[in-house]
Amino acid sequence: MHTSSLRQAPRALLLSLMLLLAACQPAPTQTRIQGSTMGTYYAVTLSDPFPGGQGALQQEVETLLARLNQEISTYDPASLISRFNQGTGQPPQVIPATMAKIVQQGMDAGRLTRGALDVTVGPLVNLWGFGPDKRPTQRPGAEQIAQARERVGIDKLTLTPQGDHFLLGKAIPGLYLDLSTLGEGAASDEIAGLLERRGVHNYLIEVAGAVRSKGRNAKGNPWRVAIVEPSDKPGAIEDVVTPNGMAVSTAGSYRNYYELDGKRYSHIIDPATGEPVTHRLVSASVITPTALEADALDTALMVMGPERAMAFAKEHRLAVYLIEKTDQGFVARHTPEFAPYLVRSEP
Ligand code: FAD
Repeated sequence: MHTSSLRQAPRALLLSLMLLLAACQPAPTQTRIQGSTMGTYYAVTLSDPFPGGQGALQQEVETLLARLNQEISTYDPASLISRFNQGTGQPPQVIPATMAKIVQQGMDAGRLTRGALDVTVGPLVNLWGFGPDKRPTQRPGAEQIAQARERVGIDKLTLTPQGDHFLLGKAIPGLYLDLSTLGEGAASDEIAGLLERRGVHNYLIEVAGAVRSKGRNAKGNPWRVAIVEPSDKPGAIEDVVTPNGMAVSTAGSYRNYYELDGKRYSHIIDPATGEPVTHRLVSASVITPTALEADALDTALMVMGPERAMAFAKEHRLAVYLIEKTDQGFVARHTPEFAPYLVRSEP
């Protein structure tokens, strides 16, 4: 059974590889900070000076991340999202603009993906032991799954603007909002906003694999991000991309899983069945202007499976890179929109 710390491994691997690729010989002008957040880690590398230096950068980034955790962490019983989940939804709860933006992205992506991404899937996530609740000792039964599914659906969630705040409501008291799949992307975008406001325009930000970059590294080269092989083999790279100011986010089913009675259960839940996915798509990477959007879509693609995901990506002209596990090994495919970002050109 994989532990919580092992769940962070692909992100950690991605960080190591990024650093290897982008910053293995740090130039004197480069600033780098890293730390823990959202049950995982973050890292920020700048090739511009930050006003106040490295200490000020770390303090401002950690304040921002703490605020985001207080808003959307289902692991903190006192957070805004936990209070929403514990309440009846009547009257609707006031939430700040940042959280509202994340909820709105979840609702938009839910509609776009016809329910593959569902930010109300929390009861099922928890039932299968991938949220704050403990892992089950036996496979959840059909009745438990059916009961949890009755509490799922973005049609039961309402978000209404009111002045500079928003009102979050629910149609049934048991609705449980889970923004875990969007949190890292949101954090990456928020840090990018902070850096821009401080006059920093050359940076690489990673929050558990949701990556934002802009400009160039200290050597004057474009930032590079590795897409790692979806295996336990340390350091194996599937491909390398230069995001060129765009965000890149990768979701996978190959690290965050556990085994029960000889069967493997991954943390990606298909809301249509109420069960973890079982297809052979093991990794999905998406490049979009914001990390929030990329972070929403990569999970949705992981729900869809290889064929549906590729068809969806082509229909919506998305820059998508999929890795499928086959009997012959890993097979990577990408859409034409992804090709310009690949460092190693493919036939
Ligand atoms: P992603 O692929 O980005 O998302 C998968 C996750 O989304 C699943 O784990 C599940 O939660 C959810 N999900 C599954 N299926 C669907 C679906 N169909 N639609 C929508 N969502 C789905 N973890 C800890 O162990 N301890 C902590 O203290 C902790 N704090 C956190 C605080 C915050 C603010 C956030 C956002 C997350 C926190 N986490 C914590 C969770 C953890 O770090 C990851 O966010 C989580 O494990 C999933 O992220 P991922 O990038 O691995 O997977």
